[in-house]
Amino acid sequence: MISFLDLKELNSQYEKELIDISARVIKSGWYINGVESRAFEEEFSDYCGVEYTIGVGNGLDALKLIIRAYIEMGIFSKGDEVILPANTYIASALAISENGLKPILVEPDIENYLIDPKAIERKITEKTKAIMVVHLYGEICNMDRIYKIAKEYNLKIIEDSAQSHGALYNGKRCGSLGDASGFSFYPTKNLGALGDGGAVTTNDKELATTIRILSNYGSSKKYKNIFKGVNSRLDEIQAGFLRVKLRYLDREIRNRRIIADYYLKNINNKNIILPTIREENSHVWHLFVIRCSRRDKLQKYLKARAIDTLIHYPIAIHQQEAYRELSGERYPITEELAEEILSLPISGLQSLEDTKKVVEAINEFN
Ligand SMILES: *Cc1c(COP(=O)(O)O)cnc(C)c1O
Repeated sequence: MISFLDLKELNSQYEKELIDISARVIKSGWYINGVESRAFEEEFSDYCGVEYTIGVGNGLDALKLIIRAYIEMGIFSKGDEVILPANTYIASALAISENGLKPILVEPDIENYLIDPKAIERKITEKTKAIMVVHLYGEICNMDRIYKIAKEYNLKIIEDSAQSHGALYNGKRCGSLGDASGFSFYPTKNLGALGDGGAVTTNDKELATTIRILSNYGSSKKYKNIFKGVNSRLDEIQAGFLRVKLRYLDREIRNRRIIADYYLKNINNKNIILPTIREENSHVWHLFVIRCSRRDKLQKYLKARAIDTLIHYPIAIHQQEAYRELSGERYPITEELAEEILSLPISGLQSLEDTKKVVEAINEFN
């Protein structure tokens, strides 16, 4: 059986270090907002090349807190619009609507499944305040074009980096490519905790301070609350685990690139459309997504050959019951992708032997 992502096997590589760090935290008697969280924040800032990292409870909270902080800073207000790709995970949109702003969906580019800069410009109105770029599947968006648009219309750029830890764009890491970036450390992400976790990265000092305060009940000093904040913090154990796993992130990304390269060079079934790649370092292959017009049949066929696959994502945001107010909108590229995409197994540990089995099975599909 080739599983989609074997988390048990992946984390057992680091078992000794993970056990050591949990023992250290247990014995410290200090479990939230302590030395591990501060150390991880510093190490992650160094890794991403930013001034500030604020650890939070999860990836959705990271994105939500960025928008909430811009509201508290007087930069966004309720009813404003934020542009985002229609084919992203629903969390990107929830972060916007939960703050009382309006998610404005735009089509991805059919070539790379990333937000299409041409489609962004068509949706800009007087209420548009930001573009949320999602480096979907681990590949950085076309930032040069997006920088020009953001500058021309005076928009903030918020990165959703939940799938792209470590990806580079012109030598700069994701997390440092916009005004602020939200990361998720959900266990299946390229940098995954052993529970929930998230972070905001930014070079904006006021934004960083506002998010830090908002995430701790709106409290700047104990029992003094300046905002109606929330409780969203990265705990010491998860921060400790993430410090261990951050040291191996680049190694895991290298393995993902080897697997992706093997798929790209060896899958040669004419029924399959392979992903394209702009520049090697700009993609960290969180997901390896192929397209096939008979996708459901292919998925069943692979399952019968003991190969697990997943679909990211089978139902687009505007077709979700939760967003019934968008049900009248049409996004033909997004809708087509939802019907045709399939994510193949890939991980920081997957062997070439398993990868070969996946390739053989796909090449024999007709
Ligand atoms: C996983 C994910 C999130 C949300 O992260 P959580 O930690 O699960 O809240 C947001 N955006 C994208 C694109 C994701 O893949």
